[in-house]
Amino acid sequence: MSDCIFCKIAAGEIPAEKVYEDDQVVGFRDLNPQAPVHVLLIPRRHITTLNDLTEADEALVGHLFRVAARIAADEGLAERGYRTVMNCNAEGGQTVFHIHLHLLGGRQMTWPPG
Ligand code: 5GP
Ligand code: ZN
Repeated sequence: MSDCIFCKIAAGEIPAEKVYEDDQVVGFRDLNPQAPVHVLLIPRRHITTLNDLTEADEALVGHLFRVAARIAADEGLAERGYRTVMNCNAEGGQTVFHIHLHLLGGRQMTWPPG
C-alpha cells in the first residue's frame, strides 16, 4: 500500500533498525520503545488489521511468532521471558494499520495491560 509507513520500511524506502529479514517478514526496532527490547515483526505484504487475516495467512502468522521467539532468544530473553502483542483497531490501541507483532522484553511485564 503506497501510503503505509510499514510497507515503506519493508521495502527499504524509509529507514528502520532492522534486526531480521526474510522473504515473508521483517523485524525492526520500535521508534518509541516501551521496554529495553521492543521489536516489531511485520509481514512484507500489507494486511491492515488482525480482522483481515484469512485461512491462507495461517502459516504466515505462525512464522511471525516463530521469528519473534528466535529474536527473543538472540536478545537473551528466552529464559527470562517476554511478551508478544498484536493490537487491533481503536480500542485495541492500534495506531499503524499494517499488522505487526510487538516483541517486548528486558523488564518485568505487568498484567492487566493498560
Ligand atoms: P500499534 O500502536 O499500532 O500497536 O503500534 C505501532 C508501533 O509502531 C508503535 O509502538 C510506534 O512507536 C511504532 N512506530 C510508528 N511509526 C514508526 C516508524 O516510523 N518506525 C518505527 N521503527 N516504529 C514506528
Ligand atoms: Zn502496509
